[in-house]
Amino acid sequence: MGNELFNQTKEQRPYLVELRREFHRNAEPGFKEYKTASRIEAELSGMGIESRRVGETGIWGTIRGTRKDGQGGEKIIVLRADIDALPIQDEKDEAYRSQNPGVMHACGHDAHAAGLLCAAKILKALEKRFSGEVRLVFQQAEELGGGARQFIKAGVLEGAGRVLGVHMASDLPVGKIGIKPGVNNASVDYFKISVQGKSAHVSTPHLGSDALYAASQIVVGLQGIVTRRVSPVDTVLIGVGVLRAGTAYNIVAEIAELEGTLRTVSAALRESIKTKIEELASHYAAVSGVAVSFEWKDFASPLINDSAVASEIADVAQGFAGEANVIRDRPLSLGGDDFAEFLRELPGAYAYIGSANSAKPNTTLPHHNCRFDIDEDALVYAAGLYAEYARRYLDF
Ligand SMILES: [Zn+2]
Ligand SMILES: [Zn+2]
Repeated sequence: MGNELFNQTKEQRPYLVELRREFHRNAEPGFKEYKTASRIEAELSGMGIESRRVGETGIWGTIRGTRKDGQGGEKIIVLRADIDALPIQDEKDEAYRSQNPGVMHACGHDAHAAGLLCAAKILKALEKRFSGEVRLVFQQAEELGGGARQFIKAGVLEGAGRVLGVHMASDLPVGKIGIKPGVNNASVDYFKISVQGKSAHVSTPHLGSDALYAASQIVVGLQGIVTRRVSPVDTVLIGVGVLRAGTAYNIVAEIAELEGTLRTVSAALRESIKTKIEELASHYAAVSGVAVSFEWKDFASPLINDSAVASEIADVAQGFAGEANVIRDRPLSLGGDDFAEFLRELPGAYAYIGSANSAKPNTTLPHHNCRFDIDEDALVYAAGLYAEYARRYLDF
């Protein structure tokens, strides 16, 4: 008890590594995970697991327990792995680096997909020991947002009682598992502010309306919202990652665009800050004589772990990883993950699988770095947690 399935995942290490490297070599961006999806389908069908597509590239697999004595009831657990890569050129010097120019698994989703396939293989082989159902979610487009909602719309949570998601963590040594009860991640809103001015020669700025100048003031002003308009004890982040403006050194810029993100953990704050951002930009636009327009995209809700489930998962992790290797109070992160959408509907939690090894420097780099890599021992822990938690929930 406690680590039977984990021991099986250890035996599956070569399978895990081979699969993970194959996904890594064939990294594909969100909503375009065609090869990845076909490979997952082929694996599942080889195991005798039925599956269907969700959207173009998501895969929903089903393992039905065949135990008939009523033990364990008809419970349903959803296990989720994301499968998409990022628009980053892979700069690693490894044989398994991405073969797709400009696309790379720099967040570890290749490891999640491999881990869930391995857990599926183990659970399928044990189907006679449980009743109920395991739903396997290989979710597209986590980095873009939107994949989780497609699965929910397809009905993957209907009748289910639990959902578990895992994520590699390069700030955690391999062998460790981290989880945080309650609020784990911020909401993720994307915004684009388009500034429309009027061009003129730079020597006659008063004859134009300087979109670049106004946009610069907006960029700086936004940080004032965080420090002056929000309580210092509230968690809010406004980040601007793109500012585009101007065509030549001697022309007053007619157009500017900035793209950024708002992160917070409170629904009320989220709405009120959106309004403040628009008010601030409109104000700077008015004083500069330019016009502004806004585009918002709701990428993810705040990710809130069910505290009781988080503690269940930590107990299961402790059973196979050892007490000293389970971190039960991992700090809040203002990263986001659309796994949050599943947690809005169902009790569940999101756990971190340590993937860093200081002897392999690339494995300690931040996620989304162009040399990001994992210590492949982490695959065993990811697969082990999926399988062991399913076993605990389905009571076999
Ligand atoms: Zn990521
Ligand atoms: Zn990720």
